[in-house]
Amino acid sequence: MRQLIAGNWKMFGLTAEAVAIATPLLEAGALTRDLLVCPPATQIALVSRLLAGSPVAVGGQDCHTETHGAHTGDISAPMLRDAGASYVILGHSERRQNHGETDSLVRAKTLAAVAAGLTPIVCVGESAEERQAGWETAVVGKQLNGSLPDDFAGIVAYEPVWAIGTGRTATEGDVAAMHLFIRQALVRRFGPAGEAMPILYGGSVRPSNAASLLAVPHVGGALVGGASLKASDFLDIARA
Ligand code: PEP
Repeated sequence: MRQLIAGNWKMFGLTAEAVAIATPLLEAGALTRDLLVCPPATQIALVSRLLAGSPVAVGGQDCHTETHGAHTGDISAPMLRDAGASYVILGHSERRQNHGETDSLVRAKTLAAVAAGLTPIVCVGESAEERQAGWETAVVGKQLNGSLPDDFAGIVAYEPVWAIGTGRTATEGDVAAMHLFIRQALVRRFGPAGEAMPILYGGSVRPSNAASLLAVPHVGGALVGGASLKASDFLDIARA
């Protein structure tokens, strides 16, 4: 299966910046990996129009559980779809930490995303303290159990919190062990469908470390934060 390189722009991207990041992706030429960019909500429609007809997909960074209603400031999954998104990142550690998102909320958002025709990318990952205590598989196993609905059909992203935006990357050994653990959990829960579910790695992926991380067994691609804000770095990762 082709690997997916997904860019999470987070809260970056005024209009000129969004155009500057997205436009070079149109010139990428043939790639062996699929590309996805997840701009802030305000730029999804613009970036979708810019990339229309190209193989680069567009996604959101979060969605509400409801389709519409009195939820000031929130954005629903059908709204993301309407703006041109086909994917949505859910349960990113920054949302779990800064917005108190629980596994059950992430699960409800995942159901809403699928109902709207979006492919969910559900993030899991342990903190530095949890890893130090040797709890990383227990934490990730609990997040998977609670965040993925029973009929889940989407993508999982393993993002150790201590590696996000820190420049500290998990070792290939850490990544191999956790991706195998996640694969086994997915197969136990979803049967043969769990064999094919992509598992992305995220956490300080850069052009310099992408080739080795993407070669680890059960790594189905990368979720890239900082390095996705520069088109040349993002494309170098896709070509690594
Ligand atoms: C992320 O935000 O999902 C991420 C992995 O960020 P970074 O690549 O900057 O560590």
